[in-house]
Amino acid sequence: MKNKDKDMNEIINHLKTFGFVFQSSEIYGGLSNTWDYGPLGILLINNIKKNWWKKFITLESKNVGFDSKVILNSKVWQSSGHLQNFADPLIENKINNKRYRADHIYEEITKQNSSSLTDQELEKWIKENVKEYDNSKTDWTEIKHFNLMFKTAQGVVEQTKNQLYLRPETAQGIFINFNNVQRAMRLKLPFGIGQIGKSFRNEVTPGNFIFRTREFEQMELEYFTFPNDDENAYKYYVEKSKNFILDLGINKESIRLRIHSEDELAHYAKATTDIEFEFPFGWGELMGIANRTDFDLKAHNKFSDIELKYFDQESNQTIIPYVIEPSVGVDRLMLAIIVDSFCIEQIDQKDSRIIMKLDYKLCPYKVCVLPLVKAQSLQSKKIMEYLNENDIETNFDESGSIGKRYRRQDAIGTFWCITYDYDSDIDNSVTIRNRDTMKQERIKIDQIIDYINKNSNTK
Ligand code: ATP
Repeated sequence: MKNKDKDMNEIINHLKTFGFVFQSSEIYGGLSNTWDYGPLGILLINNIKKNWWKKFITLESKNVGFDSKVILNSKVWQSSGHLQNFADPLIENKINNKRYRADHIYEEITKQNSSSLTDQELEKWIKENVKEYDNSKTDWTEIKHFNLMFKTAQGVVEQTKNQLYLRPETAQGIFINFNNVQRAMRLKLPFGIGQIGKSFRNEVTPGNFIFRTREFEQMELEYFTFPNDDENAYKYYVEKSKNFILDLGINKESIRLRIHSEDELAHYAKATTDIEFEFPFGWGELMGIANRTDFDLKAHNKFSDIELKYFDQESNQTIIPYVIEPSVGVDRLMLAIIVDSFCIEQIDQKDSRIIMKLDYKLCPYKVCVLPLVKAQSLQSKKIMEYLNENDIETNFDESGSIGKRYRRQDAIGTFWCITYDYDSDIDNSVTIRNRDTMKQERIKIDQIIDYINKNSNTK
């Protein structure tokens, strides 16, 4: 089944039923577009992050990790341009009092990019062409810009409170620490600094479940390189990012690369490629790889007292490095993985099953141990503990028929089911069942780990 034919509501209900994602603040009527992650959701998320960290930090010997704060000195946002530029063009329909992103309305109707249009042109086009929208007649206001940063304050006395912001991206926390990290770790250009952390954007049009929310998490790498090697590094990280997504088990038909045209580029970027994913609600950006040039370091050099720069001993020159940034949202990537892996399979004429065909390394539980009868619970739990101690995330289920238990595990993506039965005490063996093929094999208990490692994609 293609992603565009999958039913988003069915997926959302499934995720609630099985403990992946719940509406936030549900008992108080919820908070719009805000979702909490349940016990299985957080296991999946941890596996996604673990894999990103491995691919972008651990396996790249020149890259290091970092963790900066959500609330930074507000001068950071002045220097980076976020206070001036991080704003969406809003237009209001006076008839239904609803506000919309003017650029989104234009793009939705014309299927063309709007970034080359000025606000006046955009407003004129909407006023002339969009006489009905969102099931309502229209009477449009002028376009106003709305800054996406959440405001907060620090300090206890009202009058002296400091105006601060929640970060809209994690990148700036890395840029302002460039000298600290480079010196402390004695890093030689090129090198990367990556982090995983929360970002906040007061999005005008959040929605599509966890695709666009106001609080979300990002995994960002800032790769600093020589100004004349930026294009090679950019190509390398576009390719690497694509492979990262495919290695998570996402089908290659579900993604496509979109290169930004010149008039569409952000004010800081020389080149940008988006990796888009086909969601049930259409194609959308999953990950962006941008060549941010020396824009950010230069901006902080201009506005702060400290210069962020690199002294290259070989050429005896001071350099302001260029930055290549692969950036992806954890929540959006989780949604893509869920959509791509969710399927309903017809087993025979009467019977079907829901499976999340997750890649082994992402499965919330790699294994579930099932005692055939409750009397075998103790021995089964011992196997579970043994596997968990060996870092194979394992679960245990003793309620209902074996068939029902298999279905439950298929529905949450568990890769292997191990059944402990009457013969297990005698032959020290169990039956192991593969989620996708449903094939079963009898193996010795002391060979379970070898078997799993040999037959699963652990990379
Ligand atoms: P969009 O055009 O969808 O608003 P963007 O181009 O503003 O995204 P970036 O600033 O490039 O996004 O952020 C990098 C990544 O962070 C995106 O590719 C996406 O995966 C994620 N992301 C950005 N905004 C959100 C959001 N509001 N909710 C969830 N994830 C987000």
